[in-house]
Amino acid sequence: MIPPDLRTWAEIDLSAIRHNVRVVREKIGAQPGILAVVKADAYGHGLSKVAAALADQVELFGVTNVEEARGLADLGRDVLLLSPSLPAERREVIERRGIATVSSAAEAAEFAGGRINFKVDTGMGRIGCWQDQAVEELRAMGHLKNVELHSISTHLPSADEDEADTLTQLSRFAELAAVFRQLAPSAKIHVLNSAGILRFSDHAHDLVRPGLMLYGSAYPAEFQSALRPALTWKARVVLVREVGPGRSVSYGRTFTTTRPSRIASIAVGYADGFPRQASSRGAEVLIGGHRCPVLGRVTMDQILVDVTAAPEIETGEEAVLIGRQDREEIFARDLAEQAGTISWDIFTGIKGRVKKISP
Ligand SMILES: *Cc1c(COP(=O)(O)O)cnc(C)c1O
Repeated sequence: MIPPDLRTWAEIDLSAIRHNVRVVREKIGAQPGILAVVKADAYGHGLSKVAAALADQVELFGVTNVEEARGLADLGRDVLLLSPSLPAERREVIERRGIATVSSAAEAAEFAGGRINFKVDTGMGRIGCWQDQAVEELRAMGHLKNVELHSISTHLPSADEDEADTLTQLSRFAELAAVFRQLAPSAKIHVLNSAGILRFSDHAHDLVRPGLMLYGSAYPAEFQSALRPALTWKARVVLVREVGPGRSVSYGRTFTTTRPSRIASIAVGYADGFPRQASSRGAEVLIGGHRCPVLGRVTMDQILVDVTAAPEIETGEEAVLIGRQDREEIFARDLAEQAGTISWDIFTGIKGRVKKISP
């Protein structure tokens, strides 16, 4: 039972996450390893519980930095740091046997006694060694004593958006990978993020790096039905009011009633991560099995929804902001689109006032 005094909370279904890992496995087949990306508190789903639930299904975990890696110390899995490490973080990375992502032989030399992932930039344009110099740089790395080359990787900037461009990028990287194999036969090669796994699974190489799809949100949307959303975000109705026609609702008075209305205040706002940008963009919440439109602007601590069509709704009732209720479902991507953003941003934007519950 959810305590009746909880105002807003997220229910995390760990069995859905385990299901989504099995979808990854079906896509890539038996051979490649799975590096579960659990950065940013497992995309807002709660690092320790998610990682513990996944540990027996995956070979490695991926996090952003060494601070996040601390939370995984007891699970007995390798941890790869997806972002560059600060000079001040390097000692702890080495001591923890973390796998540091490096962009050059010079950076690799800073990890003496440790392990590295050599990142190649094939078009992401963020970190890594530009592809034309990658073979030369890898040769230079081969001369380093006492640095273990765990893996070689690249990242796809538009796997969910641009098929032709991604295929060109993947085939160019495959040519490079053949050379890498000669130079560093034991290094694991990896490329695919979630959209890559869903669309280009024959490019799995040795490891894949699913993030978002583990949590059950699919880009492109055509793959949504294969995945189970793990997060249901709820908030309670804190007040219901009857108002007449011609009454403005919320800050800026951007919405005015045109008929006698029942308007519910829901105990969630942008201070909880409900995006203010979704104001007046067609967002809805589910209450008592009804889709109820969000009216006017999202405020810091409350949103206002039209419950005129649902006269039975009372204070204390649960509203679903993301997730399923009876036959209706709101996907993270729906709220993201109304806010002009993406599911990754919605999940990681859910704030500390929202208690996480994994039944
Ligand atoms: C975050 C991240 C991923 C996971 O991406 P999704 O699109 O969430 O699957 C994979 N690789 C790298 C390098 C990342 O930073």
